[in-house]
Amino acid sequence: MTAYPHLLAPLDLGFTTLKNRVLMGSMHTGLEETKDWDRVAMFYGERAAGDVALIVTGGMAPNREGGVFPGAAGLFTPEDIANHRIVTDRVHENGGKIAMQILHAGRYAYGPECVSASPVKSPISPFPPRELDEDGIEKQIADIATAAARAKQAGYDGVEVMGSEGYFLNQFLVTHTNKRTDRWGGSYENRMRLPVEVVRRVRAAVGPEFIVIYRLSMIDLVPNGSTWDEVVMLAKAVEQAGATIINTGIGWHEARIPTIATSVPRRAFTWVTKKLMGEVSIPVITSNRINTPEVAEEVLSEGCSDMVSMARPFLADPDFVKKAAEGRGAEIAPCIACNQACLDHTFSGKLTSCLVNPRACHEKEIVVATAAQTKTIAVVGAGPAGVMAALTAAERGHAVTLFDKAGTVGGQMNMAKQVPGKEEFHGLVAWFETMIDRAGITLRLEEVATVDGLTGFDEIIIATGVQPRDPEISGQDGSNVLSYIDVLRDGAEVGKKVAIVGAGGIGFDVAQFLAHAGESPTENLDEWREIWGVGDPSRTPGGLAANGPQPELAARQITLLQRKAEKVGKRLGKTTGWIHRAELKMLGVEMRGGVNYEAIEAGGILVSSGEAHAAPTVIEADTIVLCAGQVPDRGLADALEAAGRTVHVIGGADVAAELDAKRAINQGVRLAASL
Ligand code: NAP
Ligand code: SF4
Repeated sequence: MTAYPHLLAPLDLGFTTLKNRVLMGSMHTGLEETKDWDRVAMFYGERAAGDVALIVTGGMAPNREGGVFPGAAGLFTPEDIANHRIVTDRVHENGGKIAMQILHAGRYAYGPECVSASPVKSPISPFPPRELDEDGIEKQIADIATAAARAKQAGYDGVEVMGSEGYFLNQFLVTHTNKRTDRWGGSYENRMRLPVEVVRRVRAAVGPEFIVIYRLSMIDLVPNGSTWDEVVMLAKAVEQAGATIINTGIGWHEARIPTIATSVPRRAFTWVTKKLMGEVSIPVITSNRINTPEVAEEVLSEGCSDMVSMARPFLADPDFVKKAAEGRGAEIAPCIACNQACLDHTFSGKLTSCLVNPRACHEKEIVVATAAQTKTIAVVGAGPAGVMAALTAAERGHAVTLFDKAGTVGGQMNMAKQVPGKEEFHGLVAWFETMIDRAGITLRLEEVATVDGLTGFDEIIIATGVQPRDPEISGQDGSNVLSYIDVLRDGAEVGKKVAIVGAGGIGFDVAQFLAHAGESPTENLDEWREIWGVGDPSRTPGGLAANGPQPELAARQITLLQRKAEKVGKRLGKTTGWIHRAELKMLGVEMRGGVNYEAIEAGGILVSSGEAHAAPTVIEADTIVLCAGQVPDRGLADALEAAGRTVHVIGGADVAAELDAKRAINQGVRLAASL
């Protein structure tokens, strides 16, 4: 008897059956743009082999003007069809099904040729769109239908028509972006004409036995968004027009409410999809922040949807469904919703990967094969770099011993998991523990590895991490000064007024930790919705709460400081930095850049401004917390090298600057794959 009966139940679509209720949601990986189609096929093929019922590809442009960026992948020529065939064949060989997403970006297309309902520029693009005339609209519909027909020729099992997230079709639906007075604007019947017509023409182009998913924005989270009545009207019309399945979209890209970041509660929006259940007779899919089989099962068993869509969890672990079905749920590498190697990469023009699984989208490059010659390997340091090096080495058949002076594995992640909004780190540390146990690694905790103790190993990997940087501020030895380790790891007492020295990732974490009182909003959906102003689209258009965001009361008065004269938090994650800044702002945290730390005194910290050390002022504080960055802990590595031993140094022990778990894990996995 499985623990996930709803999740693993097949879904009969009439002309075809999906083997379970899991859809791998669309993600732009950048793989198609590499033009290495074997690489694309490997990525999707591995996911199909992991038993996900239906994969949706990254968005494919139906034409040049609709591409998310100039040169975005599409399906334009016979050669493209042959290339996509390589992917669909691989997925089918591995027992899977795959649908191609057709994504017309409209005014979100990052280029001067972009088009939309009306010439209303998006706040997240510098390019004003060109208003389409009647012929222009017909061209877009025809191009989308042609893309669907080509997808069928290329061997896809279906298409997903992207109608949410504020893209082209969504732009016609709301008055905010559709100012037209012709038959494509004005009344809702007119505004929904385009998406409905698109679905009708796509269905006509592909025939009856082909999956057509329509991704429908159920809560726009922008001013003047769709009302719930309109959402239901559209869903019914789309069903009538020939859609096989309706998938959920949450929030426009320009929305100022986080929808998938790690601080968003799990399954934060499944209640929205549930409202649509019973309104249409085709299957409905829900989405966003579902990352474990338990959560997915709960969502389905509560009748929130007929299927669940998970995207990033399939970067973290291609075998998600297979492991769940085999009762190995604890072995699923968890997506911690950090965006660090997926969306942040996409928005920086880099190939997607995954913080917990560097092989994602790099399957051809990082091959974890059984080692030709088994070795004994010592790994010192059980933080992310060390653990992932140890696991990869063990997977290859090496005999691995993992040392850490602490009593637990996970290193700095044990501090991160204390921070409100970072609860997902608990799951990652638990996964480390499970996998270390199942891999047969000899784990030696509370043991300080020494030069003598490391004799006899064929290879030594040093992942001893970092130490706090000494900011050398006069008065820092005072009893009113703490380090981030005192606060996050050791639970030191902190006063009501706090100054934080250093506004990097850890400074932000400490501010977040100290500003909150009581339960983390990430653990309490009602509270989280209130804080961010997420209402109900049945009451307010677009689902923005009528009374707006309602910040919680801060537990402390905090000033976050940095020396650089740039915006505080500028270097945080590309897609998540704004959320961290907004959260702290709502908690009343004052952020100041361009300061010099003159001295720490009994009543606070004396700072001045700029090179001239102008305007010295005391920032009053009961406690000053030092978060001034980190330096490599290379003590053991240096001692081993001095004794003539060869060592591999990874993670923070190698380079502390710009260190994050993504780089640490990537380095650990790549090294161990090569030993
Ligand atoms: P960091 O991001 O490099 O920030 C260090 C901070 O200390 C900066 O604000 C820096 O700003 C300041 N600083 C540097 N040298 C100083 C000195 N001598 N005296 C006073 N201040 C000094 O390092 P971190 O905050 O320790 O974080 C470590 C790593 O973990 C980072 O790479 C971070 O990205 C990662 N991390 C990430 C997250 C996340 O959410 N993604 C969370 C936590 C940690 P000024 O030089 O301008 O003063
Ligand atoms: Fe999830 Fe982070 Fe991996 Fe992206 S990088 S898939 S958010 S764990």
